Amino acid sequence: MSQPPLSDRWLGLRSWGLPGPFPHRVLTLLGRPELDLARDHKVLAIGAGRSYGDVGLNAGGIAIDSRLNDRLLGFDEATGILDCEAGVTLDTIVRVMLPRGWFPMVVPGTRFVTVGGMIANDVHGKNHHTAGSFGNHVVSLTLMSSDGAVVDCSRDHESARFRATIGGLGLTGLILSARVRLRRVVSAWMMARCRRFAGLDAFFELEREAADRYEYTVAWLDCPSAARGPVRGIHFAANHASTAQLGERPPAPPPGKPRWIPYGLPFSVVNAVSTRMLNQAYWLAHGPSEGLQPIYPFFWPLDGIAEWNRFYGARGFYQFQCVLPPEAEQAGLAELLRTCGDAGQGATLSVLKRFGTVAAEGLLSFPRPGSTFALDLPNLGERTRRLLAALEAIVLGVGGAVYPAKDANMSRALFERAFPGLDEFLSHRDAAFESSLWRRLFGTGP
Ligand SMILES: Cc1cc2nc3c(=O)[nH]c(=O)nc-3n(C[C@H](O)[C@H](O)[C@H](O)COP(=O)(O)OP(=O)(O)OC[C@H]3O[C@@H](n4cnc5c(N)ncnc54)[C@H](O)[C@@H]3O)c2cc1C
Repeated sequence: MSQPPLSDRWLGLRSWGLPGPFPHRVLTLLGRPELDLARDHKVLAIGAGRSYGDVGLNAGGIAIDSRLNDRLLGFDEATGILDCEAGVTLDTIVRVMLPRGWFPMVVPGTRFVTVGGMIANDVHGKNHHTAGSFGNHVVSLTLMSSDGAVVDCSRDHESARFRATIGGLGLTGLILSARVRLRRVVSAWMMARCRRFAGLDAFFELEREAADRYEYTVAWLDCPSAARGPVRGIHFAANHASTAQLGERPPAPPPGKPRWIPYGLPFSVVNAVSTRMLNQAYWLAHGPSEGLQPIYPFFWPLDGIAEWNRFYGARGFYQFQCVLPPEAEQAGLAELLRTCGDAGQGATLSVLKRFGTVAAEGLLSFPRPGSTFALDLPNLGERTRRLLAALEAIVLGVGGAVYPAKDANMSRALFERAFPGLDEFLSHRDAAFESSLWRRLFGTGP
């Protein structure tokens, strides 16, 4: 876990990428005295701390830790609707429900996130083009405001508050529980395909060809290779395996114990040389293939190493994730890659995916049609922040957006332009709730 043990003392909390720690008064959800405190202090609910930047931090304020609020409350086999408290992790849901033949409709790239965190960032997965984002499958949620009032919200009841809370960055109140839709799967195996490509044209061709045939698609890019010619990458596409495809296969193995990096390293082992070597090794390890693959490494390859963020040392790292609208996606991506190359800072890990047209539920939801591109960049101080500003300028220029869950640098100008639901959202925000991201963008208002 990236958070320290539960306590009501002042503790240092970290996000997934930023150096930190940042002081917080951490309170648990047992009882409700914390919400009385909220009248004098700014509060923020926190989940598993898997957001990269400062959306899940309230430095100098109160953090209400959801993680003890972690009971599965009920499951309806007829509808596939799971009722659970907001501190339940995706890992728990998958461990309990997958052996019974059920799987969440949308999962992000780590399973160590809470339901509350997935709702607040309206997370997306590799199946956005077929299923939309997590919020599209939330049936209802129970929200507690800073005055202690508890409201059930859904598409039919308190619908405006429901839409503000999905993707609402934790600023509309405390999500106590939610009812979310799961889907049936026949096993814990995927039928997965892997193809190498060179150049963005080839990526878009693979995406076009795979979109109708595969529920899940995503590509890895060798960002440093863009400096030498057409960027190379690997395209992954998969469906849940059918009974016919499984044949006599035994059940897929459960996830192994993650490897641990026991100590926070004072220095980063990530540099230009190790980045090139890592990308080369990844390329060599993924030749063209097609076949059955266990579900855990398909969806959550990074979860195999717990606390892998420690590789970046005490300075941490930034992730930059943006979405570019369809009319500008190819040219915009080329420019983003060129800009990284010119800055001489290749990304350690780059992921590219096309979002589909399913409309997001949330007023501040990030997913929208176009290409979403994510880059992990070691924090080299001013040099990296200059690069991030240059990348943001490209996104702003083409009418794209940056993902708040991953952000630590976005400007207010971009936020206001990229999230047109902001004005409506503000009328549903709970003024006692605030995050470090919100203060960075807006000071103490609006
Ligand atoms: C390896 C890795 C891969 C990832 N892959 C993806 C991906 O594929 N797609 C994607 O969309 N994201 C991805 N993410 C980001 C991650 O899914 C989101 O940041 C998610 O919101 C983190 O959830 P959390 O439980 O850790 O919440 P935190 O990071 O602790 O908090 C996130 C937000 O949720 C709010 N929140 C938490 N609990 C509550 C509650 N009970 N009530 C109200 N608000 C609450 C917080 O206030 C905050 O605004 C990835 C992150 C990592 C580390």
